[in-house]
Order: sequence, then C-alpha cells, then structure tokens
Amino acid sequence: MMIRALDAHCHADILMRHLPSFPNLYREMGCGCVTWAYLETAHSREEYIPYWNGLRNLCRAVESSESPFYYLVGIHPRSITEDMKSLPELPAELCESLAEHLRDPLCLGLGELGLDKGGRIEEQVLLWQLDWAVRHLPEAKRIGVHTPRQRKEEATRRTLDILDDFKPLASRLLIDHVTPALWPMVSEKPYWMGMTLQDGKVSLDELISFAAACPSFSDRIIVNSDGAKALSRPFLDFLRREELLDAECRRAVLRDNALRFYGLSLGRADDGLQCGSQINEGSDHEKR
Ligand SMILES: [Zn+2]
Repeated sequence: MMIRALDAHCHADILMRHLPSFPNLYREMGCGCVTWAYLETAHSREEYIPYWNGLRNLCRAVESSESPFYYLVGIHPRSITEDMKSLPELPAELCESLAEHLRDPLCLGLGELGLDKGGRIEEQVLLWQLDWAVRHLPEAKRIGVHTPRQRKEEATRRTLDILDDFKPLASRLLIDHVTPALWPMVSEKPYWMGMTLQDGKVSLDELISFAAACPSFSDRIIVNSDGAKALSRPFLDFLRREELLDAECRRAVLRDNALRFYGLSLGRADDGLQCGSQINEGSDHEKR
C-alpha cells in the first residue's frame, strides 16, 4: 500500500480528544503521521511513562497501511513537571522507559525536545535527554527539536548553540517550526528542517513564495501540520491542492524527505511508497 504524504509532526493524542474521526480523514487522504510527545497538563513525573505508553497504544490502534502512525517519546519543554526541577539527572525509570520504547518499530525517536520559554530548567532537561541520546539512542532513531513562537530567533540561536556540542547526533536531528525568516540561521547547520503549515506559524502563501525565492528548500525541508487541538487547515489545503508547487517538490516536502529522515523504507519504484518497516540507515542529507 502506498501513502501520499507523511505528516512528520502532529499530536495525534490531542487530536483524538478534539476530533476522534481524524484518523479516517488521514486514511482517506493517504497521509500517515508521526505524533510527537507533548503532555499538555503534567503534574508529576510519574505521568510521563503512562503517557508514552498511551502514544504507543494509540498508534497501534489506529495505524493502517494507507495511514501509518508512528510516535516519538521524550519531555517537551512545556511538559516539565515541578518534581523534575530538583533532580540531579534524568531518573532511571524514565531512561528505562525511553530505551524500551526505542526498541519498538513504531517509535521513531525522541521528541518533542527543545526550549520554549528558555531558562535553566528547560536547558537542563534538554541536556539530560541529549546526553542520554548520545549514549543510548539507536542509530536508526531520530530526534525532533521544537522552536518556540515567542522570542523565536533568540531561542533558536540558543538551541543551535547547545546542539553544537552534540555532533554525533547531527545527522539525526530535525529542527522544527523553521520559518522563512529563520532559514538563513538554521540552514547553516547540517540538520533537517521542519516547516509547520499552520495559522500563526507558516502560511501557505509564505511557503509558496519561499519555494520560489529559495528553490533548494525542498532538499532540506519537511512540511508538517503540528496539528493538536485542531487539524491544520493550511496543511490539508496544501495536500489537496496538487497545483501548488511542482510535483517533484511536493513529493519531497510532503513525503520523501520525511521518509528519508525517519529512515522509513521506500517501496516500489512507481511513485508509490510502501509504508511500514523502518530501515537502519542514516539520513542522507549530510551528503549534500
Ligand atoms: Zn508540536
């Protein structure tokens, strides 16, 4: 079975609460998705493991060959609980759970990591997870990194500075919510970049004009929805309106770059892609 697109960043657990029928829509559109961990209201660190287990159960329950569902695990900067703040390191039980999830073929890596408001605690939790990844993240798994809406340039610069110290992870990192304004800063680095089509992030018009101004964007960009409380209208419009951008560019930013980044196997050569298994190869954009 073939898919038309892979929504490389969404929050399927939140979408399920607001729009339980959304997997049917994705299936009809031939779109798979990768749901990134974001525990909206976290009170205690004991909630992380059941939350990650829930993401796995959700993916198992709704995935289909027309619309595969995958997930990432980790601690989002807005999900850091009070009881994490005084700890000296990432608790062992969380490390064990991360390792266990990363053995599951549906779990594609760590995310959503990063800085949101910034500050010592957010940096600490990000560093713990990156340190853990350097030692334990399986070669085939990836890391999705958040950049915030507020003070975006400053927070992104700080994030990139932190990531400079984690060179062994470089080919496995995706910096997300990159905007055309951020492109010059982020594209200097060797990472994949996510561009989120959503009201308040990047509009469809901005994407189209950016594609015209910077044709090489389709080598590095993975378009996604970051859908959470609602589906992203601009993302769905982009998927439906096949006249937007040329076919090759559309395939790259909507599907092929995401499959390559996540190391998901390509299927038949007839423009169809077989979904399902994860292959053990590095992302290849570092060759460019
Ligand atoms: Zn997100």
